Amino acid sequence: MKYNMDLEIIIDPGAGPCFGVSRAIQLAENILNEESELACLGDLIHNKTEIDRLIQKGLKSIGHCQIVEQSKKKLLFRAHGEPTSTYRIAETFEVTIVDATCPIVKQLQEIVAQECAKMKKVNGQLVLFGDINHAEVIGLKARCDGKIGIVRNPKDLETIQTAKPTVFISQTTKFQSDYNKLITAFKQKRKTDQTEHYPFKAVNSVCKQVAKRDKQLKIFLKDLDLLLFVSDPKSSNGNELFKIAKRKLPNSFFISSPDEMEKIWFKQGQKVGISGATSTPIWLLEETANRLKEMFRE
Ligand code: SF4
Repeated sequence: MKYNMDLEIIIDPGAGPCFGVSRAIQLAENILNEESELACLGDLIHNKTEIDRLIQKGLKSIGHCQIVEQSKKKLLFRAHGEPTSTYRIAETFEVTIVDATCPIVKQLQEIVAQECAKMKKVNGQLVLFGDINHAEVIGLKARCDGKIGIVRNPKDLETIQTAKPTVFISQTTKFQSDYNKLITAFKQKRKTDQTEHYPFKAVNSVCKQVAKRDKQLKIFLKDLDLLLFVSDPKSSNGNELFKIAKRKLPNSFFISSPDEMEKIWFKQGQKVGISGATSTPIWLLEETANRLKEMFRE
């Protein structure tokens, strides 16, 4: 086959959905191979293209107020988990729960419940590094009766007291480097406030699957001339990773589908990398690579 432009195209070996999300998708597909329809509580993955593919197979996303409609039917709980109240409501309406909560998230929910009980006894506090509206954070917060301080960045620490026993926990999908910065900032605040004698612990809860994604991406970018970053614009992880990529390699382009690629971006002999968010399916990265080859076929 002849091409009118030679490009070296490489897919990022570290890209693709994490184990928890892949497992949830597999569970859904197994059911949809046998049944014509399956309801999922919220979007199974933060990627519209992948959701559209699953909708074609019979998946439908429903909200919490529609749980009652699933009475005597199956309802999938996604990888990021649900508050205990959702399980109670589903049981009340005799919904058959298909629980795809990631085992790592389940374990973290238990840790939050245990640490919460310990902190209650010593008038201490739990601080969670996460995004307040993220499904995992909502599920974790519920394990501590909502009594958990949520911080998104070191600036938010202004609202957190230091004169108390404190346990830090991170949402699993955060970057380790950002969690470390937050811990360092809190330790500095304790020093300034002269409250270092209060017990402090940071639970190492950033998931190993995503902890090093920022570092891996930086390594992947090293010899590239151009990056195609494929992600849903609504993916917070995708937006964070793209910011890192754009800083390192200004010749980086954010696309949500291969249709958005433009011929004028590419030059003869370039080494083009294709990467994506932790919610971007591998098949979409492969399709982007194939469509790029197709674009320059003679
Ligand atoms: S990021 Fe890690 S903990 Fe969170 S769902 Fe994926 S595999 Fe599970």
